[in-house]
Amino acid sequence: MNLIIAKSQPATPAERDPRWTALVNRDPAFDGKFVYSVKTTGVYCRPTCPSRLAKPENIAFHADCTEAERAGFRPCLRCRPNDAPLAERHAAIVAEACRRIEASEELPMLDALAKAAGISPYHFHRLFKSITGLTPKAYGAAHRTRRIRDHLAEGKGSVTEAIYDAGFSSSSRFYETSNKVLGMTPSAFRAGGVEAEIKFAVAECSLGAILVAASGKGVCAIFLGDDPDQLVRDLQDRFPKANLIGGNTEFEALVAKVVGFVEAPAIGLDLPLDVRGTAFQERVWQALRDIPAGETASYTDIATRIGAPKAVRAVAQACAANTLAVAIPCHRVVRQDGNLSGYRWGVERKRALLTKERG
Ligand SMILES: [Zn+2]
Repeated sequence: MNLIIAKSQPATPAERDPRWTALVNRDPAFDGKFVYSVKTTGVYCRPTCPSRLAKPENIAFHADCTEAERAGFRPCLRCRPNDAPLAERHAAIVAEACRRIEASEELPMLDALAKAAGISPYHFHRLFKSITGLTPKAYGAAHRTRRIRDHLAEGKGSVTEAIYDAGFSSSSRFYETSNKVLGMTPSAFRAGGVEAEIKFAVAECSLGAILVAASGKGVCAIFLGDDPDQLVRDLQDRFPKANLIGGNTEFEALVAKVVGFVEAPAIGLDLPLDVRGTAFQERVWQALRDIPAGETASYTDIATRIGAPKAVRAVAQACAANTLAVAIPCHRVVRQDGNLSGYRWGVERKRALLTKERG
């Protein structure tokens, strides 16, 4: 006969406390929710303290630091329970560094930023990148880009004013980098929107209507949809000041090439692309182009691949901002559980593309 031995009640009050499991697991979700004290050492700790756990009979729980200190305990020097939680402190360090970068005319040196943050340059660089998804240098460049674009797009003031407002000390220094920042000279940006002249044509493919547009630099838009007129309106919205010109016969050859590519993405698109996004978007888009046809990746995979594992939401936003359907294969990004998730040009088209690619 088998004896069924009832599990006895835990012996100590600490083990009977609902917070005991969180403590045993060093569960970070409970950091800041309670602290615990150790009678034998006289200190109190966060639930996540890396120190070896004391015997349960010596442990007591407290709602917060004040309560623990009122009971006569000192804060542990290892887990510093009376400081803000680690994640909060890290976020504060990075936010402070961002403000510094935004406020300074020249990009501050990494050493200076790290020194102000009170951590090593190596640790600072890693921390900054894990939270913002960008290096401090790329963040500084992206910040200036955004300010100049905003100023120019608002149409207020002169190009020169926009340059000075964005923190460049001289306009000649700005013009040296403007092609990188705006993809053209500031006056062209102001005058013509993203490009003075954009050719386009709408065709039919197995996925419905397809609009292909190209600037002098390369293909700048590939849109898919049901309604050709709507696609042209989308193009106008994307390039509001550009001079949109219907493509000629020569252009139709290019459209045919793009349609052929959409029908069989595995052959690759042998055409220059005119890709314009923020520094971060362009890194995401490059990572998308590195996913081979027939394969998929999750938003988390992409965030990890570009070295910004915490920037999953920003990755999803960058995918949604893609204007080059199929050429930048945002359709190859699916949810972690394999669910197709959204697609700017309709989830049915995403499914069709993926089925086609799996061959
Ligand atoms: Zn501790």
